[in-house]
Amino acid sequence: MTDAGPTPAPTPAPGPFPCPFCGPRDEAEFRYGGDPDVARPGPGSSDEDWARYLYVRENRRGLAREYWVHAQGCGLWLIAERDSVTHLIHSVREATP
Ligand SMILES: [Zn+2]
Repeated sequence: MTDAGPTPAPTPAPGPFPCPFCGPRDEAEFRYGGDPDVARPGPGSSDEDWARYLYVRENRRGLAREYWVHAQGCGLWLIAERDSVTHLIHSVREATP
């Protein structure tokens, strides 16, 4: 058996989700909406482009931008910057079309 190294520190529980309109709310009120940095393929795109758009993600480690909707609150779409390692949210703003 090899030495696996030190035991990693436990991941802190994420705090309340800070909706800019409703204030801090329980994360269960929100639904994940995807990656705002992935461009939707245009008309006439290949099946390969659509498959990549629908199923392939980078799964970045660290700060990531994400769409969230406050489904059980104001109903607005938000863009959150969240650390994918600690799950802590660094910023939240309204998603504009
Ligand atoms: Zn809200």
